[in-house]
Amino acid sequence: HGAVWAEQRKLSPENLLVITVATEETDGFLRFMRTAQEFNYTVKVLGLGEEWKGGDVARTVGGGQKVRWLKKEVQKHSEKTELVIMFVDSYDVIFASGPEELLSKFSRLGHKVIFSAEGFCWPDQRLASKYPEVRTGKRYLNSGGFIGYAPEISAIVQQWKYKDSDDDQLFYTRIYLDKTHRTKFNMTLDHRSRIFQNLNGAVDEVVLKFERAKVRARNVAYDTLPVVIHGNGPTKLQLNYLGNYVPTVWTYETGCGICDEDLLFFSEDKQMPLVYVAVFIEHATPFMEEFLERLSTLNYPKTRIRLFIHNNVVYHERHIQKFWERHRSLFPDARVVGPEENLKEDEARTMAVEVCKKDPECDYYFSIDSDVALTNPDILRILMEENKSVIAPMLSKHGKLWSNFWGALSPEGYYSRSEDYIEIVQGKRVGLWNVPYITQVYLIKGSVLRTKLSQVSLYMDEGGMDADMVFCRSIRDQGVFMYVSNRDEFGRLVASSNYNTSRLHPDMWQIFDNPVDWKEKYVHENYSKIFEDEKTYVEQPCPDVYWFPAFSDKMCDHMVETMEDCGEWSGGTHKDERLAGGYENVPTVDIHMNQIGFEKEWLKFLKDYISPVTEKLYPGYYPRAQAIMNFVVRYRPDEQPLLRPHHDSSTFTINIALNRKDIDYEGGGCRFLRYDCKVESPRKGWSFMHPGRLTHYHEGLRVTKGTRYIMVSFVDP
Ligand code: UDP
Repeated sequence: HGAVWAEQRKLSPENLLVITVATEETDGFLRFMRTAQEFNYTVKVLGLGEEWKGGDVARTVGGGQKVRWLKKEVQKHSEKTELVIMFVDSYDVIFASGPEELLSKFSRLGHKVIFSAEGFCWPDQRLASKYPEVRTGKRYLNSGGFIGYAPEISAIVQQWKYKDSDDDQLFYTRIYLDKTHRTKFNMTLDHRSRIFQNLNGAVDEVVLKFERAKVRARNVAYDTLPVVIHGNGPTKLQLNYLGNYVPTVWTYETGCGICDEDLLFFSEDKQMPLVYVAVFIEHATPFMEEFLERLSTLNYPKTRIRLFIHNNVVYHERHIQKFWERHRSLFPDARVVGPEENLKEDEARTMAVEVCKKDPECDYYFSIDSDVALTNPDILRILMEENKSVIAPMLSKHGKLWSNFWGALSPEGYYSRSEDYIEIVQGKRVGLWNVPYITQVYLIKGSVLRTKLSQVSLYMDEGGMDADMVFCRSIRDQGVFMYVSNRDEFGRLVASSNYNTSRLHPDMWQIFDNPVDWKEKYVHENYSKIFEDEKTYVEQPCPDVYWFPAFSDKMCDHMVETMEDCGEWSGGTHKDERLAGGYENVPTVDIHMNQIGFEKEWLKFLKDYISPVTEKLYPGYYPRAQAIMNFVVRYRPDEQPLLRPHHDSSTFTINIALNRKDIDYEGGGCRFLRYDCKVESPRKGWSFMHPGRLTHYHEGLRVTKGTRYIMVSFVDP
């Protein structure tokens, strides 16, 4: 019993010392320390603030400096027979469990020194055959993690007498492969990842294991739950993925476990940070006016914003111009680079970011592309508060899985779907996600630009790769984490691939590709209220004639302007080449939707916006929302001023007033003869809906001055 007791006492957490090396407090190091603190590990960090002389270890040999520092440090402990020392790398390591489990596993393995194992013999493959054979598990030594009693660890590292750029792994490997040493120090390798999981060559063996309020990594090849997870070599991104969960970063029970740590707060009375906002209009984009307008409604002191706009699209010059006329006083120092300057995208992005980099006063750099609709005006403050080096708000195309981040990279460096991608996009997992690729909108700390990113060309490379790819790769290569946040609702992405700017008002055609933006722009602001408060928002001026808000002012104007621009008004006679029979019984001066190529879009509008109203007002009738007669009518005193009484060839008709009585025209209106009921003051943007035949024999009343426009559609003929 005495002996067992002694063993247990020896292996209590107070007798464990974790030693690591970090010359800089990188994002990886901070992540490591966070997991260490979570389990109360005692960690000694060597080398902070010193110059790294260990070479580019992730790619080639090196790392000797770590051993030199370790040698000096463990000398202090060489006599402590009860002390257990664990050395681990820090930039690419996380803890999945605590000291108790670690020590109990260590003691059960029954050796004095245990190194982590991997499937590659590195850096000298010729040594492979010298390794003892293993029946299962990984055969070769990895020096990114090892654990042992202080005297033995000390004796091992005292043998170091090499250069800082020599290879630490080779050094330990030679000792291990020397049978005398191996026996003397009672060394072994953790072949089956009971303690150490090296990810290189083992990515497919490691899966997340969600427990109650924590998450572990499980090695499914050996059915073990390793304590130390090491993203050695080219597996940094896989570690980032695991590190989004392990040990309590995100769990099913508690959600995001780190989201409220390290937040910054800005008090009302203090000056807000200075942010350089850079806008990139690299291709023709729908809803540009709305995009620009949102810049002016950002809830952030404009005196603390420096605006830069790169516009590479001639078509959008008019929108910038208009924006500028309205808001130049908000952004007096704005810099606009137009298409005439012939700047390429990567050059423009470089130009903008360099200004922040070079200005010590620049606290943040916020980059935003024209296809980003930011509907959350607090975005700048929210992202700043998250206190990350680089952070993007999560945005997706409405109702789609297309977003502004990637959860994983393919081996070629392009998109690959991570297992959690859909859940993140759909907001089923909420938090801050360390991801390999973000695009279109992000915030970077100025201080990070001036330190860790100071030497890199963020957007340009020799290979001519796209600026977004170069950007993310540059950031990843510097070991800077990129986060995407779906903690708040930020907005959405605008689809710009089917945008035909040869039209007068091309946004009108965006009802399919960008339905939300279309609704905000073109549907009456009170339309949705019809379904909440019918009594207030639907009127019944005549029996079975309903009257409700449908179009926004903009829709009315754009429709009229498009028709006038088209100009192919019919003659108002019975002969009508546009119709199948060539004969119109009740002719008007009009232009059909198909003459402006708006037929499909119009039917979509009927289906999405008119059908729901019909179903509500005529219960039991489910419109097919088919219509072949959709047109804008023009009434003028000197042209066609009125329309004689008639039936419509429809189940029901909608009739939307497109301009304003007493301002744009006088007279006008509609009379239903059976009820002798008139509506003499149509409202712009409001629609009538009434049965087409039998009961609702009606006429268009005379326009006495100006021009009146209405949009008419015969639904379900
Ligand atoms: N390291 C450091 N400063 C550096 C580079 C590396 O302190 O500039 C330390 C750090 O602990 C890091 C370890 O050396 O985790 C090994 O480097 P890295 O993780 O890049 O190499 P790998 O695990 O891929 O061999």
